[in-house]
Amino acid sequence: MSQVYFAGLSSSTKEDNLLQRVKRLFEHAGRDIRYDDDIVAVKLHFGELGIDTYMRPVRVRSIIEAVKEAGGKPFLGDSNTLYRGSRGNAVEHQITAARNGWLMPAVDAPVIIADGLYGHEFNRQKIDGEHFKEVKIGAAFHQADAIIGVTHFKGHGMTGFGGTLKNLGMGCASRAGKLMMHYNVRPEVDTDECIGCGKCAIWCPADAIEVEKCAIIDLEICIGCGECRIVCPEGAVKVKDSSTNYDLQEKVAEYAHGALISKYDKSLFYNFVMDVTPECDCPPWRKGPMIADIGILASRDPVAVDQAAFDLVKEAPGELEAGVDKFCAVHDVDGTVQLKHAEKMGMGERDYELIDISSG
Ligand code: SF4
Ligand code: SF4
Repeated sequence: MSQVYFAGLSSSTKEDNLLQRVKRLFEHAGRDIRYDDDIVAVKLHFGELGIDTYMRPVRVRSIIEAVKEAGGKPFLGDSNTLYRGSRGNAVEHQITAARNGWLMPAVDAPVIIADGLYGHEFNRQKIDGEHFKEVKIGAAFHQADAIIGVTHFKGHGMTGFGGTLKNLGMGCASRAGKLMMHYNVRPEVDTDECIGCGKCAIWCPADAIEVEKCAIIDLEICIGCGECRIVCPEGAVKVKDSSTNYDLQEKVAEYAHGALISKYDKSLFYNFVMDVTPECDCPPWRKGPMIADIGILASRDPVAVDQAAFDLVKEAPGELEAGVDKFCAVHDVDGTVQLKHAEKMGMGERDYELIDISSG
């Protein structure tokens, strides 16, 4: 059974504030980790311009301090997106990161866009997956000695929820890798729900959408990235063949395995179960949180840390009652497929012991 450490959010002394707890989580979960001048990639999502639910830089600075105290040389990293947002190439990505507060004076570590200027810099990694025997990981992530996953745990239109596996699987992949994961997703527009706003066409990286009274997708051109579904404010874009959502989750898990395969012994994973929005941090707007903030989880096991976060959200009261899979209720996608597949590949365990370190 894996150990997952938990820190709650309320405290009343400066010695025990949230930033100290973030560090203490590293001391507990990462107590066996020793770095010898190792390069440590702190894998983040720097946030799309216009969104404010991404990770707070001040919290990540505590993790940077802990990595340095363990002997590591950290950098903050992400890879470029497939879609046309504010992070589609390294120049815009760096500018977006800076505007969102990811600057040396704030976080004490440099920002590196791991797959280069246009997302074409990757290293091949052999794996023994059901979908892939080789994955294409952003070069800087592949070359780093360790990965610290720092994840805002929230919903996701294509994978039910986005946790550590999603952050590492999709987020460490190069552009070619992202295409490998997405290629068989086929979106459809519900003409009764579409209001013809055109947001999907603006974001589509393949110019596959034309909008007159409503959106029309040319599936001959579509690359299956799924962004039209994520950015549609009306929920009018569907992926009716649910097997493609489940395939995508399994592929994401296999990519996460590929990113970690030579690094499990030096890596650690945080899930911040705060601002749990139904959507991910890619659309430049947000809907309100589904539940009240819960706390922060850390573990050496990327499967257990996601399972624990999923269970905490499921059991929390909100608009939907405790015990209901709130992500599935919103997106009609069972996000636990990724957890089962990751466990099957030996990435970790879904059984876990939750250890509360809030009081010391
Ligand atoms: S139409 Fe296809 S390529 Fe365009 S955003 Fe949607 S899924 Fe992506
Ligand atoms: S974003 Fe949604 S509502 Fe707007 S045009 Fe596209 S499918 Fe229609």
